[in-house]
Amino acid sequence: MLELCSIASGSSGNCICVGSDDSHVLIDAGISGKKIENGLNAIDLKSQDMQGILVTHEHIDHIAGLGVMARRYGLPLYATPGTIDAIKNVKSVGKIDESLFHPITPMEEFSIGDLEITPIPISHDAAEPVAYRIKKDHHVFAVVTDLGTYDDAIIQELQGLEVLLLEANHDIHMLETGAYPYPLKRRIMGDRGHLSNERSGQLLGELLHDKFGTVMLGHLSKENNYEELAYEAVRLEVTSGDNPYKADDFPMYVAKRDAVSPVLRAQ
Ligand SMILES: [Zn+2]
Ligand SMILES: [Zn+2]
Repeated sequence: MLELCSIASGSSGNCICVGSDDSHVLIDAGISGKKIENGLNAIDLKSQDMQGILVTHEHIDHIAGLGVMARRYGLPLYATPGTIDAIKNVKSVGKIDESLFHPITPMEEFSIGDLEITPIPISHDAAEPVAYRIKKDHHVFAVVTDLGTYDDAIIQELQGLEVLLLEANHDIHMLETGAYPYPLKRRIMGDRGHLSNERSGQLLGELLHDKFGTVMLGHLSKENNYEELAYEAVRLEVTSGDNPYKADDFPMYVAKRDAVSPVLRAQ
């Protein structure tokens, strides 16, 4: 069994729980320790059940609660060396015991309990950002957010997924016509920014296969997207795209900014 639940997802804070019967990890801790604990309680888990936190990158919406979680529960933190260095420079995270940091190498698999985890390098304006692929028996899940673009290598690494949490950050039109200052717009749209709904749908189209299970869209922008729009835009890309699948072939959820998602489970 492998399961995934989004506790919070969006530009204001990200925290995903992935686990099996025996082992659980958090991917990012970008909300308060209290909100993480409450979210875990809602799915009958608690912070003490976590074996570690996998950090994607050092942006504050991914690490705001990291220091608290590490100090309060002694949770080991897994991140690339570049991300670890960058975390240490974020003052608001506070002091974290050096022994809790576990450096990981992109594309090198490691285990936490019975979970086999592979960090996959992604293109984003952070020190050394990664997405995570998590395997247990024949089940393969992935959490892929905060990427400005994708290439064949990423598509290759994300084949055979059963459950995918995928960024659908913004609607290009809302971003272009919205109130953000021009440099910020350019940053978000750039190759090291965030995936638009359309690009998200195009990437998803590359990852579908006959045994694909469920996709959950996440990391929606508060200002430049909304749930129905992301949902419809990604579905349209899949159905009209150059792939043999239609959006109706698989369930699609949208992770909420600050509410616990349904638990996606593969038996
Ligand atoms: Zn980021
Ligand atoms: Zn982010």
